[in-house]
Amino acid sequence: MDHFLYRDGALYAEDVPISEIAAAVGTPFYVYSTATLLRHFQLFDDALSGTDHLVCYAMKAASNQAILKTLAQAGAGMDVVSGGEYLRAKAAGVPGDKIVFSGVGKTADEIRTALTGGIRQFNVESEPEMEVINAIALELGVVAPITVRVNPDVDAKTHAKIATGKSENKFGIPIARASEVYARAASLPGLDVIGIDVHIGSQLTELEPFEMAYTKVAELTEQLRAEGHNIRRLDLGGGLGIPYTRANDAPPLPVEYGALIKKTLGHLGCEIEIEPGRLIAGNAGLMVSKVIYVKSGEGRDFLILDGAMNDLIRPAMYEAHHDIVAVKEPVPGVEQQPYDIVGPVCESGDTFAKERNMPPLESGDLVAFRSAGAYGAVMSSEYNTRPLIPEVLVHGDQFAVIRERPSFDEIINRDTIPTWL
Ligand SMILES: *Cc1c(COP(=O)(O)O)cnc(C)c1O
Repeated sequence: MDHFLYRDGALYAEDVPISEIAAAVGTPFYVYSTATLLRHFQLFDDALSGTDHLVCYAMKAASNQAILKTLAQAGAGMDVVSGGEYLRAKAAGVPGDKIVFSGVGKTADEIRTALTGGIRQFNVESEPEMEVINAIALELGVVAPITVRVNPDVDAKTHAKIATGKSENKFGIPIARASEVYARAASLPGLDVIGIDVHIGSQLTELEPFEMAYTKVAELTEQLRAEGHNIRRLDLGGGLGIPYTRANDAPPLPVEYGALIKKTLGHLGCEIEIEPGRLIAGNAGLMVSKVIYVKSGEGRDFLILDGAMNDLIRPAMYEAHHDIVAVKEPVPGVEQQPYDIVGPVCESGDTFAKERNMPPLESGDLVAFRSAGAYGAVMSSEYNTRPLIPEVLVHGDQFAVIRERPSFDEIINRDTIPTWL
């Protein structure tokens, strides 16, 4: 459920007409709904009620300061995957003891930044990384809390580019080697080995892979405890999918996911952490774009938009589907027609949808890409010297620009000319 609904013939974000935002900030832009962000966070928090837990928002999904602050004020922790994200979380007011640091290639500088500023735990992904964290902790005179990310070798049944829990993926250490790796970790005086971490992929639309992974984590917890490790925290990663097509997807609900966690792991008495990103931000954001031209082609019409693959890369990168709707509500019963919906970038990959049925549209009309809040703005680029598009946050009947569109001068002046030119 989200808060982007038609009202009086026009699409609204909460109580603000999309067309009003478009008039104020120009197109294309991203718009997020505060109520939707909070609702999704709350669903996870409620799903784990009765269990000692922390929901750490995977901020790589959408990392604007205003979004982080909205969620942090509701009690969310953050899952970060770079030193930059760590600093963003701190800047948004998240205390170090609510920040977990994931990622397969943390550098010494990033580790030092986190250990200096305070960290809830590092989710360690390799033995060399473990040695570096230990060395830096000793140098700083602190003890680094860690979990080890284990790779449970389960098939997440998702797109290959976002599956992470198979043995062929680069993530974590094979579960079969856990004993050895935990023994080594326990011998390092700069580390406090507190738990186990697992994250098997993104956009999972079934519970079964989670169940397989968490069952293995439960067995591993018992085994490591028997080997003398004080396993007290389980970080279960993110990955619960969202419905990208309104019509027919029905991924499991957070409450069902929470029940599965309790069923598979509840008996262990561990503190539970989860790291949802997509499900919190995905359906809380739209990308709004304007039709520049309607072009009649050979047997098809093209809707050429002012938004492009550099603004929303998911269709080009993952063959992802986004529902695209007209901002002016279609008259009931109006005959739809198929369009190829494309951006202006000089690549055939700059195609958002083929033969998509839409109400008749003309130049100047606004369209909204649904489910664009996660992995949208954060993956955008300035390819073709197209400025990063603004981000807007709506709260009830208010809205604010939370990232401005840069001017062309700002973009051009970021480059510097060597003295020999
Ligand atoms: C990407 C990622 C997440 C979030 O995944 P979603 O599918 O957005 O919920 C959580 N944890 C880790 C380690 C990740 O890499």
